[in-house]
Formats: sequence, structure tokens, C-alpha cells
Amino acid sequence: MSLPQFKLLRPRTLEEALSLLAKHSDRVVEGDSPAPNAEGHASPHNVRIVAGGTDLIPSMRQKLFEPHYVLDIRHIAGLKGIREQRGTGVEIGALTSLTTIEHSDLLRRRYPVLTEAAATVASPLLRNMGTIGGNICLDTRCLWYNQSLTWRKGCGFCIKKDGNLCHVAPGGTRCWAAFSGDTPPALLCLNAEIEIASASGLRRLPLRDFYTGDGVAYRKLQPNELVTRVFLPESSADYRGVYRKLRVRGSIDYPLAGVAVVLKRSNGQVADASVAITAVNPAPLLIKGATELLTGKLIDEALAQAVGDLAAKTAKPLTTSALTPEYRKEMIRVFTKRAVLAAANN
Ligand SMILES: Cc1cc2nc3c(=O)[nH]c(=O)nc-3n(C[C@H](O)[C@H](O)[C@H](O)COP(=O)(O)OP(=O)(O)OC[C@H]3O[C@@H](n4cnc5c(N)ncnc54)[C@H](O)[C@@H]3O)c2cc1C
Ligand code: SF4
Repeated sequence: MSLPQFKLLRPRTLEEALSLLAKHSDRVVEGDSPAPNAEGHASPHNVRIVAGGTDLIPSMRQKLFEPHYVLDIRHIAGLKGIREQRGTGVEIGALTSLTTIEHSDLLRRRYPVLTEAAATVASPLLRNMGTIGGNICLDTRCLWYNQSLTWRKGCGFCIKKDGNLCHVAPGGTRCWAAFSGDTPPALLCLNAEIEIASASGLRRLPLRDFYTGDGVAYRKLQPNELVTRVFLPESSADYRGVYRKLRVRGSIDYPLAGVAVVLKRSNGQVADASVAITAVNPAPLLIKGATELLTGKLIDEALAQAVGDLAAKTAKPLTTSALTPEYRKEMIRVFTKRAVLAAANN
């Protein structure tokens, strides 16, 4: 599958990148894939950002994106690296590779759930190229969408790209493609914030407010904006952390269900905890009520099971992947229970 024609833009500074984005992003819509036009075909985004390219380039080959311009941000100085900020936490540049995160002693010591989640992404080669910014901004996935143009044409397309019906939930008007990044649930548990830049300035957003829950317009990012940094607050440091993930091929696969757990104990009891899931809804989600359920308790099998039941209630998998929704939901229950027990024992 060949790449569509596009013009490559290679800024060396953030200012240059933002001015190119402002110049070429002629559409201002929320989210990533525009809704179909009157003919049922989505008009293309004029410009797409590429970081590591591990997700964008295969998608462009499948003609899921056919932008006129591709903005390669890899050479922007200052957006790579992990910096400890005394008293306030840790700042991670959006272009920091997943390998760097996986092998960071600082993160492993202070925010272990993030290094564990990063280490499960794809394969070592893809983690060398893939960035944390790209993982956060990852497109949602579906069996009916991540296919070649010929395949999708044969099925009559769908709401997410070029069509007006959903094969997964026929009769509905919504897309249920699953958000399938591994690090966002860990980052949600850590109360991470992201910095978003555009030519008109910077804004900072809790990651939990970044995702919309819609499979098409899945993130709150305008076409003239890019994610520049991730912040991990000091108050989230030194929690025990565990990430568990279901995938078909253990060596190189997107999650089909994933769960992150962080917890802190005092005198054997849970002082604070968070649980988040991925790959079973159009957004990664914190499990509401998990903190309250765990706090002040001693962890045992029954409590871990109750948290697993709560997570399974939040998970709403549909037939967007190779494994059945029932199995993925059940694995959220099982992995959450195991992750809570592992976090209590590690
Ligand atoms: C075989 C295979 C297996 C994979 N398995 C996994 C897996 O197990 N888990 C997982 O999480 N991912 C997986 N991936 C996806 C991908 O490798 C990772 O998610 C990676 O972190 C993406 O980062 P990237 O820098 O390569 O993103 P890119 O491909 O460059 O970009 C991805 C998306 O984010 C946008 N983007 C990138 N950076 C920014 C930014 N700074 N600001 C705004 N938008 C931005 C791009 O425009 C694009 O929409 C897999 C990919 C492949 C090909
Ligand atoms: S959930 Fe429906 S609309 Fe979304 S990608 Fe899948 S088939 Fe298309």
C-alpha cells in the first residue's frame, strides 16, 4: 500500500511548527476525523502532525488520512526528555520516546505504573520510534476502520471515515471505535496534565478532560494545536503501580483490554488509590468509585473482586476488535482484580 501524495513540512522550532499549523489548518473542528459531507465523504484535514509515525504512517497507507501537508515535529528542540521539577513533579516532553520512558530510573522509582505501561506498547523497535505525545493522541481503533481502502469500500465505509452507518452498532449515529493506547490509563491514575500549544498561546488541561468519548472526534485538539508536554504532579509520586493488558500477540499488539492501578498504603490500609481502563471504550476512563471503595481498607480477594466488578461495569466493549466484547469485559474484571492484588503486594 503506497502513501498518498503530501508535502512534508519540517520545522526546527516550536514557533515555526505553530505558525505552519496556523497557516495550513484551514478547518477548525474539534477532534480528528471530520464528519462526512453531503456526499457521505469526509473532507480531508489539510495538515497532519507526525511524531514517531508508528500509527500515522500505516494509517496513511490505508488512506485513512490523506492530508495535503504532513508536519514532522521530530526535530523540534526542547520537546524531548524527562525533567524533574523540584517540589512540583516531573515534566515529560511530548517527543520523548516510549523506550526512554520505559528505561527512566526516575519514572520507575517515582511513577512505576507509567514505565510498566510504556514497556507493554507494541515492540522494542516501535517503542524506539513511538512517542508519549503520539500515544496520548492515538486514533481510536475498529475492525471496520483499520483496513485498506479496498476493504473498507467493499463494506460500504462507515461513520468514522467516508460513510454514514456503523457496522458495530447498526442504526446508531455514533462511532464506538476503541481508544487503544497503553500509557493514558496510567497517566489518568497519576492525575497527569498536558500542555497544548497553538500560535495563540499555551493551555494546560487535565488528561481526564482531553478525551470526548466519541470514536470520531475522540480528543479535544484543534487542527492548529499540538501537545507539547505531559506533567506528573508531585502528589502522585511514590504510589505502587501495576498495568495489565490483554492482547492477541504478546510481543507486538495493541491492547484489547487494559487496566492501570495505583495505590498508596498507610499501616497496611489503603490511603489512596486509582484505577483506569483502556481499549474497551472510545476513551480511556478512570473508574468512578474505585478510590472510595479501596480507601481505608485492607486489600483481600473480596475487595479486589469488588473493584474488578466496578471496572467491568464501566467497560463497554463492542465488536470493534478480534476478541468478543464479552471476553474483553470479563478480562477487565479479572485483570483489575489481579492488578489490585499485585499493587498491594509489590
Ligand atoms: C504493529 C503495531 C503495534 C502497536 N501496538 C501498540 C500497543 O500495544 N499499544 C499502544 O498504545 N500503541 C500501539 N501502537 C501504536 C503506536 O506505535 C504507539 O501508540 C505510539 O506511541 C504512537 O506514537 P507516535 O509518536 O509514533 O505517533 P504518530 O504515529 O506519529 O501519531 C499518532 C497520532 O498522534 C498525533 N500526534 C502525534 N504527536 C502529537 C503531538 N505532539 N501533538 C498532537 N498530535 C500528535 C498524530 O497526528 C497522529 O494522529 C502500535 C502500532 C503498530 C504499528
Ligand atoms: S464503531 Fe462503527 S463507525 Fe466506528 S469505526 Fe467501527 S464500524 Fe465505523
